[in-house]
Parts: sequence; C-alpha cells; structure tokens
Amino acid sequence: MQTIETVARDWNCLEKLLNDLLTNKLMAQAGDDTNKLIQFLLCTIPVIKSNKLKAAAGKAVLRHAKLGPHMRLHGALFDVRDELKDQRLETFFHEIAHFVAYFTKHDTGHGVYWQYCMIHFGYAPERCFDGAVSNFRGYGKRKETREINDIIETLPEFEL
Ligand SMILES: [Zn+2]
Repeated sequence: MQTIETVARDWNCLEKLLNDLLTNKLMAQAGDDTNKLIQFLLCTIPVIKSNKLKAAAGKAVLRHAKLGPHMRLHGALFDVRDELKDQRLETFFHEIAHFVAYFTKHDTGHGVYWQYCMIHFGYAPERCFDGAVSNFRGYGKRKETREINDIIETLPEFEL
C-alpha cells in the first residue's frame, strides 16, 4: 500500500515534507502529540491511484466509512514528464494541506487553515490545475496567480 510517506519518498520530497510539518504552527498545537500526528499523516493515510478523478488531479478524502481518510491521486501523476514534477508536487501538497487543516482544525475546504498550510509549504493557496486531468501533457492552464505576499495580506487573522 502506498502512503503519503512512500509517495513523498518516491517523489523526493520526504525531507521537505517532514521539515514543513515539524515547523507548521497548526501541527505544533498538538504539543507532545505532534510527532504522533506526523506519523499518522505520513504512515497511516493510504494514497490510492485513481484514474476516475475528473475535476482535479487529486482528492483528499477526509472521511470514508470503509477506507477511512485517504488520498486519491490521478494515475497520470505517477508518470509525469520532468518539467511537470513541480506541478505534481503542488497537487500532492495541496491534498496534504487538506489533511493538516482537517485533523488540526476540522477545516474541510479551502479555508484559512488550508491556505495557511499551502503558504507554509511554499505554494499559492489557490486551486490550480483543476480540470487538467484529461490532458496531463499540458497539465491544464493555470488559473490567475497572485503573488503569495498579496494573498497573505488578504488572509484573515486566525487563532493558532
Ligand atoms: Zn482542494
């Protein structure tokens, strides 16, 4: 079974991911349990290849009666050209941000905690590449992008 850890290892971002989780303020709220939460995220959440995804390249399934929380990633992501690997990682971290926001703040959408995580991971907190799954060669057209600093300024204050 693939997990977030094994995918991160395969995609050469495990060290970045670990470091990002260890320095994430939402994760830090768990105090002594932060390491357990990291271990849970990395080793327990299955990553399932799914070519049925239509609206996005990945999906964080936060609740599921049978499978529990799991991540679905389009199979094409596992076989992208070199120049698309950054975009693949953005999809992966986008979904991980959903789990962090959910398990620390019960934030289920693209709300302020998800946005915080994306910025912390180094990405613009925007949904990108949606609808691009049918044509991974181009990975779709990027939606309007704003500078990360502009986005941070528009984020509401939130309690950590
Ligand atoms: Zn999302």
